[in-house]
Amino acid sequence: MDSAAVPCFVPEELIVEKAVEHTDLAQRILTRFADVPIARVEDAQQIWLQAQHARVRHEWQGKVLLARQRGPFLRLCPGTKKHICCLYQNLDVAAGCDLNCTYCILQGYLQSSLVTWYCNLEDLYQEVDRELTSHPEHFYRIGTGELSDSLTFDPCTHLAVDLVRFFRTRRNAILELKSKNTHVDELLEVDHGGRTVVSWSLNAAPIARSEEAAAPDIEARLRAARKVQEAGYWLGFHFDPMIDYPDWRQGYRETVDRLFSAIRPEQIAWISLGALRYPAAMDEAIRKNYPESTIVLGELLPGIDGKYRYLKTMRLEMFREMVRWIRGYSAAPVVYLCMESDEVWHKAFGWSPGSSARLKVLLDDRVRSAPK
Ligand code: SF4
Repeated sequence: MDSAAVPCFVPEELIVEKAVEHTDLAQRILTRFADVPIARVEDAQQIWLQAQHARVRHEWQGKVLLARQRGPFLRLCPGTKKHICCLYQNLDVAAGCDLNCTYCILQGYLQSSLVTWYCNLEDLYQEVDRELTSHPEHFYRIGTGELSDSLTFDPCTHLAVDLVRFFRTRRNAILELKSKNTHVDELLEVDHGGRTVVSWSLNAAPIARSEEAAAPDIEARLRAARKVQEAGYWLGFHFDPMIDYPDWRQGYRETVDRLFSAIRPEQIAWISLGALRYPAAMDEAIRKNYPESTIVLGELLPGIDGKYRYLKTMRLEMFREMVRWIRGYSAAPVVYLCMESDEVWHKAFGWSPGSSARLKVLLDDRVRSAPK
């Protein structure tokens, strides 16, 4: 079993906010990890504050806070100024991740490795239910993979299955579980009703080995995707961030070949492409947290939104090659760019959706019904 090959995360300490201690999720976790040290706190805020002042990021490694989500669970993806975005909704069920990819954007938001699992799921279900039922004409693509990896903690929380069941009967929404991990076995038994896309981030194998070292390798991710395909789910793939290195053409080409030799294109909802980019402040964080990584040494310049990106010519070359390789296999999946301008769309693909709203319609229409 693939998931056995990748050690599951085990917390070294659980810190429980009193307000959530008696929730079903907290009880499930506390029972499962009965031999893990537990600390109880009145207010999770004090722990977040302490963690924000960590001297080194790894100081809080292994500690998990069970807390109440204060703000809304559902949040429109902020996108980036003057770029075409897909108008995605993030569902924040956790913050933090154990996979420690060198380029991870979480380094910009979270100063430490503390992981938070939000346990007031009743509030989550009520909030999402209210949102979906009060706007029946609106279609929602909702994902849990923004502030964490959607499946990496699933052997601890078993939350993915609950969410798949919740979305099973929703006609105006689809859930996306976005991961680099392979913990899919529980998903295989659930009646998902075609309302969940299980998706994987993919990369060139040498980049996966050097920059995503704690995550399962590309072959393992694709084996997990194949199992999920056999269970009839929609699948998604994200080549993001694509990283420039001397053999990038060969590396990305090989991953595209492996993808299409493993997966039926008709079941792939979408494939996104995005080149390495990060806010200026993250440059220092990556150098400090991952001194052995060379990704910050590439030719990256600040763009109109203040984020560092590769030169446009480089991004165009990467995107053109990728879409050529992908379309050589199939016209079925929607292939889209993450946070790029209308001009880059035109130059890379020869067309553009023209606006975020139009891109949203393309992606929504792809998954309105279950895969064939
Ligand atoms: S898997 Fe995603 S959330 Fe986790 S460290 Fe890597 S980039 Fe960050």
